[in-house]
Amino acid sequence: MNDMRTPSADTVSHALVDDATYRTMYQASVSDPDAFWGEHGKRIDWIKPYTKVKNTSFDYHNVSIKWFEDGTLNVAANCIDRHLPERAHQTAIIWESDDPGVSQHISYQELHEQVCRFANVLHAMGVKKGDRVVLYLPMIPQAAYAMLACARIGAVHSIVFAGFSPDALGSRVADCGAKLVITADEAPRGGRQTALKANADKALAKLPEVKLLVVRRTGGDVAWNPERDVWLHEEMERVSAHCEPVEVGAEDPLFILYTSGSTGKPKGVLHTTGGYLVYASMTHQYVFDYHDGDIYWCTADVGWVTGHSYIVYGPLANGATTLMFEGVPTWPDASRCWQVCEKHKVNIFYTAPTAIRALMGQGDQFVEGIDLSSLRVLGSVGEPINPEAWEWYDRVVGKGRCPIVDTWWQTETGGILIAPLPGATPTKPGSATRPFFGVQPAVLDPHSGEEITGTVAEGVLAITDSWPGQMRTVYGDHDRFVSTYFEQYKGSYFTGDGCRRDEDGYYWITGRVDDVINVSGHRMGTAEVESALVAHPKVSESAVVGFPHRIKGQGIYAYVTLMHGEEPSEELRKELVAWVRSEIGPIASPDLIQWAPGLPKTRSGKIMRRILRKIAENDYAALGDTSTLADPGVVDDLIENRMNR
Ligand code: ATP
Ligand code: MG
Repeated sequence: MNDMRTPSADTVSHALVDDATYRTMYQASVSDPDAFWGEHGKRIDWIKPYTKVKNTSFDYHNVSIKWFEDGTLNVAANCIDRHLPERAHQTAIIWESDDPGVSQHISYQELHEQVCRFANVLHAMGVKKGDRVVLYLPMIPQAAYAMLACARIGAVHSIVFAGFSPDALGSRVADCGAKLVITADEAPRGGRQTALKANADKALAKLPEVKLLVVRRTGGDVAWNPERDVWLHEEMERVSAHCEPVEVGAEDPLFILYTSGSTGKPKGVLHTTGGYLVYASMTHQYVFDYHDGDIYWCTADVGWVTGHSYIVYGPLANGATTLMFEGVPTWPDASRCWQVCEKHKVNIFYTAPTAIRALMGQGDQFVEGIDLSSLRVLGSVGEPINPEAWEWYDRVVGKGRCPIVDTWWQTETGGILIAPLPGATPTKPGSATRPFFGVQPAVLDPHSGEEITGTVAEGVLAITDSWPGQMRTVYGDHDRFVSTYFEQYKGSYFTGDGCRRDEDGYYWITGRVDDVINVSGHRMGTAEVESALVAHPKVSESAVVGFPHRIKGQGIYAYVTLMHGEEPSEELRKELVAWVRSEIGPIASPDLIQWAPGLPKTRSGKIMRRILRKIAENDYAALGDTSTLADPGVVDDLIENRMNR
């Protein structure tokens, strides 16, 4: 726990803020939020400046969140037009195709023209301010154009990850009442094509009023419904390249995004305009220590909130060069990410622990020999990062020079809430460290709901006051918003995550509260046991859940994926049990270990423990909503080889 890494002298001298500045700014942000955000709200351009800053209530009977409510603005104008005087010829988006030989640079000027034309196409198809538009697209520049085109005319986008099934797409289109779906003929990923248009055709079969706008990506064959389908490239030529940005209220919706569904039926998280943009751009600048001219790459998909805030809106609001990657980290081989970093001289690289573990599992030879000297800051998001993976990222990728920012946040929070700031925050492997400006975390006793006020604390993580990027409601179901986030622990926003705060006031996310296991009266976060297993040299990934145990109440059931080339055996099983005993203690030793060639994951790469728990409980008949699984096939294998029969 005292394994503190102080930022190097280089990092400190380059950084926007140092430790003392962080502390001063943080103090100011929580003691007078109106003054703090009133000032920082000016980082973006307003059409009509706000006179009110914060108007929020976490009172269970009256949950209401408004920021900058009387201001008006346009997000596309903030992400494009306002940069034109200085940056017309600067690259806004570097697009790296699935094919390693193909990439494209799109300047702010080009982005402006594409987005204006796209917005006019939407207009021509009858899309108006407030209408919902669903995007079901590969990671191609048109995905960013479509988002910004919606924002330009005040339409509300909802992106559905291109790997989702027709059913998952159809239910989201219906839930948000979209008028139009934008898709592509096919989506290339890892050298294979997904038939996106065909999926959209299936999804829309029962939704005859919905129109379909199609991007030609591969030129592959598609079925065509002339009554409903429109080619984007044909329309783009027909419309004008001029489109005035629409004046939008700060609290008008910008987008709806369905959560990844790790814990149940996806919720339509609604984000609004002003506060969201202020928060996304400010966190992007400070957490990644973004400086003018940096090449910034976030590997997420735009179908995930990380893609919204940290590929498109945050970076472009800051006038950055943002890289969009269509492919996967392991194709053509496990060196792809590093090849891309070398090719485009990436300075800031942001990815997920699942990718880091997968690449670590393939071996260091894929990183060695590639010039990664441009890298300056490395980020992680999506799950707790196991110290083992953190160390690998630090040593093998960052060569010990690059601060690692482990960023904790959620679809619901709109932007990063807890993370180190490079140069200001000494890091500890596995800890998300300290809150961002304006964020007031509290650790609550899970039973009494009382806040634990001592520095050292363990319990559930709540946030006691609002920040500008916070979601405003669940689309069409405000009661679900209130009951999910404000009912259980009154007066606070409940995150659903467990956490520990150490003697330095650093936060360690221990996993979802639902995932806490209770063995003979000892509460344990699954993340801790998983990290111990992953620390074993033969283990590449693991997922731990509880299952009913006659004596202990709950037993520990571990699913383990071995490193490439390792074989499962009874000896290894015993070795792993002994390993966890010595790493954490006898209380944490797994009762059952199942070899898992693959783990069920959401499309954003998170392990779906909800499903693993059912299998471990030998109750797999009703697995719940599996529509967001990346590869439903792995579940059959896990059921087939389950240990608790
Ligand atoms: P659903 O809410 O539908 O179950 P989800 O929670 O997986 O889906 P996201 O909003 O994408 O959807 O993920 C947020 C969650 O991811 C957090 O609540 C937390 O559990 C986990 N998480 C994200 N970043 C980190 C991090 N740096 N450290 C630990 N956990 C993280
Ligand atoms: Mg969640």
